[in-house]
Amino acid sequence: MSEELLRERIVSFVNSTLLSTSGVPVGAETPLFERGALDSLQVLDLIAFVESETGRPLPDSAIRLTNFRTASAIAATVFHADGAVRPSRDRIWSRTRSRRTSSSALVPDLEREILRWGQELGAREVLPEPAIATAALARAGYLESFPGRAVFPRSAVDATGRQAIPPAACLQCYAELADRGLDAAPLVLSVRNHCAGGDEAVDADHGRLREFTMREIVIIGSANDVDRARRALMRRAQTYVARLDLSATIEVATDPFHIPADRGKLALQRLRALKYELRMPVRGQPVAVASFNYHEDFFGRAFGITLPDGTLAHTACVAFGLERWQLALHDQLDESSDLARTA
Ligand code: 5GP
Ligand code: ZN
Repeated sequence: MSEELLRERIVSFVNSTLLSTSGVPVGAETPLFERGALDSLQVLDLIAFVESETGRPLPDSAIRLTNFRTASAIAATVFHADGAVRPSRDRIWSRTRSRRTSSSALVPDLEREILRWGQELGAREVLPEPAIATAALARAGYLESFPGRAVFPRSAVDATGRQAIPPAACLQCYAELADRGLDAAPLVLSVRNHCAGGDEAVDADHGRLREFTMREIVIIGSANDVDRARRALMRRAQTYVARLDLSATIEVATDPFHIPADRGKLALQRLRALKYELRMPVRGQPVAVASFNYHEDFFGRAFGITLPDGTLAHTACVAFGLERWQLALHDQLDESSDLARTA
């Protein structure tokens, strides 16, 4: 690829993908950041794009505002960067080792990223109770759809069955808003909780733990609002895995976690792509590390949540399973430091 071609490709990517709905089109010499045409997260999309176009990672030293001022400057940087461009695995490895001690440091890093993605969408962080009212699970249709799967605390303090361990972090957000009209929409919340009751047999080797930690971004608003936010978050997550050079796929999933399902609904779910999963290999088997769910007005209806215009709220949630990230990151980034393997 020539420098000219790369310049053109960058201009067209910025205009068609990054600025598709807003903003004045840019040219090769238009400042991309100074006038706020692009935000700080879009720069990551841009870096990922340039790297995928050229098939080469940009060295950290090249990622400077002066090099990214315009499409021309980016293309020139790529073509005139010193010979410091190393193979991609190498770079990630050295980056991981120099900046972070191991993959375990990346889980807090991921959580900070998720919080930032939420903030971009105007999210408020909420701290849920560790347990969820069993009545709320019933109202969500969970007890009926997944009989026998709810997990109750074993402590003597509350063995009454009134409280359960949440099967997903977002449910308490809907329960909290029950029978209320939102003053403004969309409402975006960041939430994290210890969860239990996953739908699989326990298989700790492959990240199937039954008890796990979920960090979510929850969006409550119109169909349009929540779908747009879900897609934006999917792009953020894709860029994040591309930046870390991880192998991962995003696929339409068919196993709803917290919406009732029967065969017809599952088929419909696939057709409408209501649930996407980000999957990464753990010991050679793909596991879902995150899901991007659009529930239509299911929870709005179940919990009686309405929008300022009186219509039922639509909801979406983007959920990250932190233990699975830990396992997947360890598998991909710590290969050569795996003590078990050298022992
Ligand atoms: P979902 O709502 O899609 O079922 O769950 C969201 C994310 O939480 C999943 O992509 C996964 O990372 C995590 N998760 C869900 N169920 C389990 C489970 O049984 N075990 C573990 N370790 N993680 C889970
Ligand atoms: Zn959720």
